[in-house]
Amino acid sequence: MTQARIHFEISAPKPASHVFHVSMTIQEPDSQEQLFSLPAWIPGSYLLREFAKNLGPITGRVGDEAITVHKLDRNSWAVRGATGTLTLEYDVYAWDMSVRSAHLDQTHGYYNGTSVCLMAHGFENELHTVDLMAPTDEKCLDWRVATTLKRVSGDKWGFGSFEAPDYDDLVDHPVEMGTFTLTTFEARGVPHHIAITGRHSCDLERLCADLTFICEHQIDMFGELPKMDEYLFQVMAVGNAYGGLEHRSSTSLVCKRDDLPQVGDTEVTEGYRQFLGLCSHEYFHTWNVKRIKPAMFLPYDLSKEAHTTLLWAFEGITSYYDDLCLIRSGRVDTESYLELLGRGATRVYRSYGRHKQSLFDSSFDAWTKFYRQDENAPNAIVSYYTKGALVALALDMRIRKLTADQKSLDDVMQILWERHGKPLVGVPEDGVEKIVEDLVGTDMGDFFDSTLRTTEDISFDDLLEQVGVRFCLRPQENSTDKGGKPSKNKPEDKGCLGARALAGNGGAKLANVYNGGAAEAAGLAAGDIVVALDGLRVTGTDLEDRVAKASVGTELSVHAFRRDELVETTLKVGAPVADTAYFELVEDASDDVVARRNAWLGLKPGS
Ligand code: ZN
Repeated sequence: MTQARIHFEISAPKPASHVFHVSMTIQEPDSQEQLFSLPAWIPGSYLLREFAKNLGPITGRVGDEAITVHKLDRNSWAVRGATGTLTLEYDVYAWDMSVRSAHLDQTHGYYNGTSVCLMAHGFENELHTVDLMAPTDEKCLDWRVATTLKRVSGDKWGFGSFEAPDYDDLVDHPVEMGTFTLTTFEARGVPHHIAITGRHSCDLERLCADLTFICEHQIDMFGELPKMDEYLFQVMAVGNAYGGLEHRSSTSLVCKRDDLPQVGDTEVTEGYRQFLGLCSHEYFHTWNVKRIKPAMFLPYDLSKEAHTTLLWAFEGITSYYDDLCLIRSGRVDTESYLELLGRGATRVYRSYGRHKQSLFDSSFDAWTKFYRQDENAPNAIVSYYTKGALVALALDMRIRKLTADQKSLDDVMQILWERHGKPLVGVPEDGVEKIVEDLVGTDMGDFFDSTLRTTEDISFDDLLEQVGVRFCLRPQENSTDKGGKPSKNKPEDKGCLGARALAGNGGAKLANVYNGGAAEAAGLAAGDIVVALDGLRVTGTDLEDRVAKASVGTELSVHAFRRDELVETTLKVGAPVADTAYFELVEDASDDVVARRNAWLGLKPGS
């Protein structure tokens, strides 16, 4: 293979030390000063992660002559006076099990290019080539490779040589190596692969069948799959974790192995439903954010924060469609879908910060607030995922109403794809609002102001009526109540602690104390360990439920530790807060209303 002017050789000589070794050659470097940098963040995850912290020393040479590599700042370097092919060598420590960085041991290796591949300034837009070297450790001799990087040599799924037309492409195809399980299905003629790493007993046939429905539904909705030869779901199955990151023709997911469909099971468990929702979410990003992008992201500046107010559209609309696609593709029924919708709304109504932070601000400040949540987060912020999804629902309903069911949010997504995604033209900050207004032919300023730029709650009443659905709020039933369903008991009688407690350190550790609640009034703070309530030991998560059993207004003694000091106080049991949401079908809805609901949910008449 001909090496490009920028060429990487990536190897894993000692997997047990969790280190990838990188040899990078630069032909014709800038002989005065050649700059290099490593991204500080990875697209899709809006936090400066400073991946350079995992790089060992970088050594440089031109031919056999060593040359000094100068460190300039936290993530960039310079080589001066290199007058021939320059080679840099460095190690990358890889021990992060998330989908955002890199991980390596004797069982598998995984990396994102943003963690491993230096960017050579001035060469960003030219061809990059990569040799992925097979490990020589005897425990790793049967490893294979799963990536959508373009292969130029070596067998399919084997080690070999790859290329990327530019740096942006190079770092958008994560690489998995190991002994993963592999299966393939076709969606609208394009091969879609699933590579599962980690111990599991997944029913691959069932997973392929379900993902075919979901992927084809989304392809049909946008009208086409963006141009690609294949798509890859990289799945890491572990005991307990959840997450995903989107890429242009693949996604990296981490999930509980028990959430995968088990051989012999036929029902859609809560865990499997969540996993399908995650796959649906990341796949939807293939259009919405990987190609339809905020203008702020074109091109990405991976050295510093890229602020946009549009994450409500890129994450919120995606979060609305991820579950909607499950019902539209026939994977869940109406009851299950409404439960998902209600659970999402519950997460919004349990964020007291929704009265302090608008969606625009939540998006803009994602870097310092959403991605850096502390004990005060429920009081201070609102999620552009969950509230963004509710805005998307309200927007969809509003568009349907204003156009007498001729148009919907689906049309907005198609227009975004045609105008911005396909030609790769960035979406200006007001771009989504303008497209909607053009589509419906009327000013939507009030709607967008109230939902995006203020902290008002979204008013659903007149919007959901047209599809025969009612939005309801009630108090939380118990500490495990995630919402989504009406209450079986009478939670309006239950007392309220005004805090979230977790088992820890021999009592109940207060994870969050809500502004204006009973715990705050009693002087309790996040981090306090409550050890006794009303003179009886608190063992853990029973704290919230014991307070719930007491009548509103009752005074209970509380003993808690703050650091190592005992605090005694009195808790006046608070009134319950209607912070738990569910959506229910209106009974006796007219045929028109039912037809409209079926059109929204993609149901056949009579189902
Ligand atoms: Zn997302």
